[in-house]
Amino acid sequence: MSEIKKLLPLQDLDCQLRDMKRELEDIPARKEEEQSRLQEHKANLAAAEEAMKGEQAKIKELELEVQSCKEQIDKYRQQQMVLKSNKEFRAMEIEIANVLSKIREHEDQELVLMEDVEKARVNVDERRKELAAEEEAVNLDVADLDERMAGIEAEVSAMDTRRGEVLADVPEEMLARYERILARRDRALVPVEGGICSGCHMKLPPSVAQNILKQEDLVSCDHCGRLLYIP
Ligand SMILES: [Zn+2]
Repeated sequence: MSEIKKLLPLQDLDCQLRDMKRELEDIPARKEEEQSRLQEHKANLAAAEEAMKGEQAKIKELELEVQSCKEQIDKYRQQQMVLKSNKEFRAMEIEIANVLSKIREHEDQELVLMEDVEKARVNVDERRKELAAEEEAVNLDVADLDERMAGIEAEVSAMDTRRGEVLADVPEEMLARYERILARRDRALVPVEGGICSGCHMKLPPSVAQNILKQEDLVSCDHCGRLLYIP
């Protein structure tokens, strides 16, 4: 085997490692994306709860008004007891009747509001169920990603070990040149196919193929700098 071909198994490993490390780097962002799916559902639930609280507050307000109407009636009744004339008494009866009718009005409104609160409560329950279902789906997806991450990490570690074994076979100078090219290219080592560099698809001068066959030194493509070999 020509010296340069010793780099091939190394390049295979390095390219796979590079892909796996890229996927690993993406996983935290993908997990965050999953979590962000919950935001809309959380906002919907919060809005539904807020709406229900609004309806409940309106009822509370009405109840306070009814309460103060009742206190008003008590006050009128006490005043009535010390009134001297029938005329004044009857005038007070009319005041009391007015307040009583206001109470009935409030109580009618309260019944309508109670139905609204019930509708709002149903809405809150639905939003809560939606959120719970989405949370379950997100948790499953996140668990899948965690599992994938653990799988890749194990693979990376096994491949690192294999890489160490392959490296033992590669001359140091060759390795340094290979690594420099791989740092900025998809591949450091590409086959010559039909007189063409398969890295950049440019035609190579015939002398290049001869130089490669002589196997004296590493030969690189003049156009893209990738190392060349004859498959
Ligand atoms: Zn090239």
